Amino acid sequence: MDAIEREDRYCAQNYNPLPVMLARGEGAFLWDVQGRRYVDMMSAYSAVSHGHAHPRILAALDAQARRLAVPSRAFYNDRLGPFLEKLCAIAGLDMALPMNTGTEAVETAIKAARRWGYRVKGIARDRAEIIVAEGNFHGRTTTIIGFSSEEEYRDGFGPFAPGFRAVPFGDLAALEAAITPQTAAVMVEPIQGEGGIIIPPPGWLAGVRALCDRHNVLLILDEVQTGLGRTGAWFAFQHANIRPDGLILGKALGGGVLPVSALVGTRELMEVFTPGSHGSTFGGNPLAAAVGLVALRVIEDESLVERARVLGAHMMTRLKALDLPAIKDVRGVGLLAGIEIDPTFAHARGVCERLAERGVLSKETHETVIRLAPPLVIAQDDLDWAIDRIAEVIGALHMSRHPQAA
Ligand code: PMP
Repeated sequence: MDAIEREDRYCAQNYNPLPVMLARGEGAFLWDVQGRRYVDMMSAYSAVSHGHAHPRILAALDAQARRLAVPSRAFYNDRLGPFLEKLCAIAGLDMALPMNTGTEAVETAIKAARRWGYRVKGIARDRAEIIVAEGNFHGRTTTIIGFSSEEEYRDGFGPFAPGFRAVPFGDLAALEAAITPQTAAVMVEPIQGEGGIIIPPPGWLAGVRALCDRHNVLLILDEVQTGLGRTGAWFAFQHANIRPDGLILGKALGGGVLPVSALVGTRELMEVFTPGSHGSTFGGNPLAAAVGLVALRVIEDESLVERARVLGAHMMTRLKALDLPAIKDVRGVGLLAGIEIDPTFAHARGVCERLAERGVLSKETHETVIRLAPPLVIAQDDLDWAIDRIAEVIGALHMSRHPQAA
C-alpha cells in the first residue's frame, strides 16, 4: 500500500488533498517524500505566515515544552499574562480569552456577544440575535455551520441552532434592515477568505461600525484569516480606521506550529465571562502562550506587516498584468489574493493540480478561485518564480478550453 492509499484508507475523507505527499517544510518551501521542492503559496490557509520551521519559534517551542507545557488553567502560569498583554496592546483592546482553534474562538465570541446582549443591552432571555454575512466562513462546529450559506458544509448535520440572521456581504442597507432590538452583534470577516477572497465595497466596514454604534450592537470581526499582518496591516480593520468590540484571531497566532486562537475584546465585552462560564483544557496553556508571544514578536521584529504590504502590492501588480483570457478576476489585499478562473477554461482544482506538478502549491476555494497566501517571509524572487509558473499554467489553459466544464 503506498502512502496516499494508506492515508485514504485510515483517514476519514473530509478533505480532497492534492496528490502531493509532503514531508518537510522550511520558510516558504515544502518538500515531498521524494525530495521535490515546492513554493508554498497557501501557508496552511494563512496559518504559516511566519514560514515553516521558523528558528525563533522552534526555539521558543522547544524551550517551553521542556519547561512547562500543559498544566491547565486550574492554575496560573507564568506565560499567559505576558502573551495576552502583548496581544491586547497590538490589537488596541483590553482583554483576551485564549482558545486553540479558530472555530473555538468564534464560539467564544458568540457566547460573549449573547451574554453581553442579555446582561448589558437588556435583551430578553434566549432572544439574542447575531447578524452574519452570506458567504461567511467561521468554522465547522454545528452552531457555526448552521449559519453558513454553503450546503456542502451543512448537508446532513442539522438541526442547527437558532439566533443567527444572514445578510448579503457588503450591503449596508440590508444590514440596517436586519437590525432589531434583539440584535446583540454583527459578526463578519473584513474580507471573506474561504468565500473566495471577497473584498467588500470601500467604506463598508466603517459603515458597519457606524450602524453598530447607532443601534447599540457589538461589532465582532473574524480575522482568523486576515489578521496578524496578512493584508499589509496588523489587522484588516485598520484599513478602515475603526476598532471592533471583539476580534477573533487564530491561525498565524500559533506561529505555524500549534493551534493558538483568542477572542480579544473591550473590557465591557470580556467581563461577561465569569469563572465556570467557558473553558478549554488546552486553551491558554504555557506552551501555546510562549509560542503565541514569540509569533507576535517575530511579526514585529521582522517587519512582516510591512513585507506583506510591499510584496502584496508587487504580487497584485504582477497578477493584474497577466491579462490572460482564462482569468476572470484578480483581487486581494496584502499577501492574500484570489485568482478567479473562467470555468469554461478549467476548474480551479485542475489549475492547482497543474501548479503542483510545476512546483507551486495552492488550493482552490470554491470551484473557481485559486487562493494565493504565501508565508509573509517569502523572498521576492521566490514569489516571482511562483507567479511565473502561475502565468504559464493559466496561460496554457486556452489550449484545452472545455465548455462542458462550466
Ligand atoms: N474563521 C475564519 C475566517 C477562517 O478562515 C477559519 C479557517 N479557515 C476559521 C474561522 C476556523 O478556524 P479553524 O480551522 O482553526 O477552526
